[in-house]
Amino acid sequence: MSFLSKTAKPETGFESFYGTNIAGSQVATSEMNEEEMPASNAYRYIKDELLMDGTPALNLASFVTTYMEEEAEKLMMENLSKNFIDVEGESACGEIETRCVNIIARLFHAPEENGKCQALGVSTIGSSEAIILSVLAAKRRWQHMRKAAGKPYDKPNLVMNSAVQVCWEKAARYLEVEEKYWYCKDNEFAANPQELIDLVDENTILVCAILGTTYTGQYEDVKEIDRLLGEKNKAEGLSVYIHVDGASGGFVAPFANPDLEWDFRLPHVCSINASGHKYGLTYAGVGWAIWRNKSFLPDDILFTVNYLGSPQVSFTLNFSKSGVHVIGQYYQFLRLGKAGYRNIMTNLTNTSDWLAEKIASIEGSNGVTKFEILGDNLGGSGLPLVAWKLKNKEDYDEYAVARTLRSRGWIVPAYTMAPHAETLKLLRVVVREDFSLQRATTFLRDLLDTIQILDKAPASVHEYQKLVHKEATQAKAEASSKHTDVDDSHSLQGKHGKTHGIC
Ligand SMILES: *Cc1c(COP(=O)(O)O)cnc(C)c1O
Repeated sequence: MSFLSKTAKPETGFESFYGTNIAGSQVATSEMNEEEMPASNAYRYIKDELLMDGTPALNLASFVTTYMEEEAEKLMMENLSKNFIDVEGESACGEIETRCVNIIARLFHAPEENGKCQALGVSTIGSSEAIILSVLAAKRRWQHMRKAAGKPYDKPNLVMNSAVQVCWEKAARYLEVEEKYWYCKDNEFAANPQELIDLVDENTILVCAILGTTYTGQYEDVKEIDRLLGEKNKAEGLSVYIHVDGASGGFVAPFANPDLEWDFRLPHVCSINASGHKYGLTYAGVGWAIWRNKSFLPDDILFTVNYLGSPQVSFTLNFSKSGVHVIGQYYQFLRLGKAGYRNIMTNLTNTSDWLAEKIASIEGSNGVTKFEILGDNLGGSGLPLVAWKLKNKEDYDEYAVARTLRSRGWIVPAYTMAPHAETLKLLRVVVREDFSLQRATTFLRDLLDTIQILDKAPASVHEYQKLVHKEATQAKAEASSKHTDVDDSHSLQGKHGKTHGIC
């Protein structure tokens, strides 16, 4: 008699979930069940499975919001059945999006003419969609210019740091634009402005500047990049502009470092993206793309759709989508105001500085400091995150530190640096809104314990850990080589199963 048939008893309808057939057997995972099941059972089953994902608040790997107030959650829950695009006549959701675009454009110092803000923008699913749209707009603008001048327009390129987030590679590949990289060095992870601008030529559609790289959180020197690009444009008769990837920094710098000039205050910044679901403090599902003015959005990529009786301009990759994220974003703007964002970002900056200092001062049993902090983000000069590496040769590596911390529930990524500096391994903690100083203190306690455990573990444990890591990496690489047959000659991330694609 099989295990399953033993548990297949007739149901009375009164069983507690853990006495039902579904709790006592495997559920269908590849084909739909023939029969229905009670709503409460489906709920409990999936809820239990999702527990394996860990506690979002202890996931220090992610930039994405894990806390919103109850009132925000209520508002979002109440509007779950709303399709963002279903608007008849006046759309409250559309109006809220417009307000958010205006608020963000002014936060980024969009230029005004006759008291009117010239910027245009859209809500997206995240910064990835915003970046793909920005690259598309830039490519099309460049093509029109080249065509008008009777020059070839078949070799567009993008100039950027090799430490870009994976969405830039997607944008380049999907839209058939050549990737021209400034490569990270062993001790330099933010693009060197002169070396970056030296890559610009007549086929460059856009220079990308990152306001907070995902690897070390450093802000690139957008002001210097802007100045050098201006000189180059003038000297060579070019018309190249900058897109700032403010996925994380876009909602941090205006509050934690208001004097830093990185946005539309600089004359060559044509577009900016920011993730509402990172430091915009909204749950996952919202990003923003903002253009300096209409001249950067060619007409032939804007669609006017006549939907439910009214014409609407559309420049997005999706049509239908949830409206709740834009609503949640507006809640935060209204609720927090500039003072609220400033208070939160100041706390996060202070916590991050505190944690960096503490980690740098951790000593091993021999009295020698263990770690070196990478990137200089102190005092709001970069993102509130701490990236660090082991300073000395140890019997264990950063992956072992991450794995040991995981046994306490903390998710801390260990990863290798961007291409050309990938021998460097690092660990990273992103300081998010709900990572208070008290939680940071608890984390530090567990990091100290981790070091003690690893320092005292016998060599065989370290050998075993390395073996497990190697096998897991190899398995990943094999799996990915089976599933992709793309020409990898330009690929920088996700190669050989290495963890470049952190986000
Ligand atoms: C997170 C991130 C992205 C991608 O943003 P999503 O909102 O996750 O699509 C792009 N660039 C940088 C620098 C990021 O940190």
